[in-house]
Amino acid sequence: MTHCDSSGGDYPGTIVARPELGPADAALVTEAELAQERARPLFSGFAVGAAVRTESGTEPYLGWNVEDPSLVRVLHAEQAAIYAAVHRENAAARVLDIAIWGTGDVPPCGACRQTIVDSNPEARVLFPYRGGILITSAADLLPLSFRITPSSP
Ligand SMILES: [Zn+2]
Repeated sequence: MTHCDSSGGDYPGTIVARPELGPADAALVTEAELAQERARPLFSGFAVGAAVRTESGTEPYLGWNVEDPSLVRVLHAEQAAIYAAVHRENAAARVLDIAIWGTGDVPPCGACRQTIVDSNPEARVLFPYRGGILITSAADLLPLSFRITPSSP
């Protein structure tokens, strides 16, 4: 049985029913859902799409997961979307929001959490969870993340 409550459950954040999302969030989730259709999960069968909005205000950057037969190329949707933003803008492209879509609960994996934090710890992260959309932040998903701190001489 699916249910939707207002707390983030196991995660920090808030679960919102999809029809109750604001227009910008709803549009970003729809873009992630459309991106999922392009996924190529040959081995896992777990198709995921992602849509990223950056500070630039351009159309969202999309990503989907890819697992090639050789397994040489394995991309996660969230990383693919962020890499698309970096490729189009520059290495400093700053993610404001990222929506993730898949079947069931789709929290980002640890590697993708680090990728999002590297772009912007305060980025809003939206993904399906417990029958609704969990809205949280990158820093809340990955506390104590890896950071390079310049050493003092
Ligand atoms: Zn991932």
